[in-house]
Amino acid sequence: MLTTPQTPRCEDARVIPVHFFTRAWGLCLLSRLALAAPPPDAGPPVAAPPAALTCLAKWYPALTPVRLDTGWGFTLPDGRAFPFDDGQQKSFSRKLEAPDLEDTLSIAYRTGPIAPVTREDEDPGRIRFEPLFEATYGASKEKVDVVPLVFLGQRLKVHRKVAPAFERVAARLEALVAKDASLAPFLQGVGGTFAWRNIAHTTRRSAHSYGVSIDLNTARSHYWEWQRPRTPVRWRNAVPQALVDAFEAEGFIWGGRWYHYDTMHFEYRPELLDAACAPAR
Ligand SMILES: [Zn+2]
Repeated sequence: MLTTPQTPRCEDARVIPVHFFTRAWGLCLLSRLALAAPPPDAGPPVAAPPAALTCLAKWYPALTPVRLDTGWGFTLPDGRAFPFDDGQQKSFSRKLEAPDLEDTLSIAYRTGPIAPVTREDEDPGRIRFEPLFEATYGASKEKVDVVPLVFLGQRLKVHRKVAPAFERVAARLEALVAKDASLAPFLQGVGGTFAWRNIAHTTRRSAHSYGVSIDLNTARSHYWEWQRPRTPVRWRNAVPQALVDAFEAEGFIWGGRWYHYDTMHFEYRPELLDAACAPAR
């Protein structure tokens, strides 16, 4: 739900002790004068939404940018309005639990040569704004519109909206396997696509719930939750570069780009592969 930041109001002066009374009302008067006359360096009024929000609306048409009292935000088809940036400073774990939409873009996703991820919590894409996913793909198991997909000979189910991207990836992968048979074992015994469930040990919904993710062969994969001893987290990977490149070319991010690595996991998140969606720094 849309929340308004707690800002001091002039009415608050009534609860201030008497010896502060005059000063408080004076400040109120000054602030109201300031509102009446914008400072000369205020610049032109902001007419356009932030570029990152416009970019997100391109990939997620369920989202409509709107100007709210607190700044730019967006509405969803059910009428709910949310701020794009709630203005709160958050730790990484807080961003996972209670993100605004801007937080979901706050860690840049980098393509290119596979490299160990050693910076703590560098997990681009693990922060997800669930109301937007629900509005785009469905808010319950029954509402997620999945269709059959033949993926390198295996019958899978994926969301109807993302099926064309999955089909393009499958065509790329089939071409790669035809040239290099050593890639095939990674793509056999696919671990799963659509499953309405929470992420292990959390109350956050897995991206698999929306039919936009795929896990490759788990026997060829590494996952930080499986690591023993559990700490410190030590990134590991066996998935070849060519497979990662094929998915990324079609708008999928890879869990092998995460400090909390999940190298079987690919997820359709085209906004993270679109430079226009990068937030202003
Ligand atoms: Zn997965």
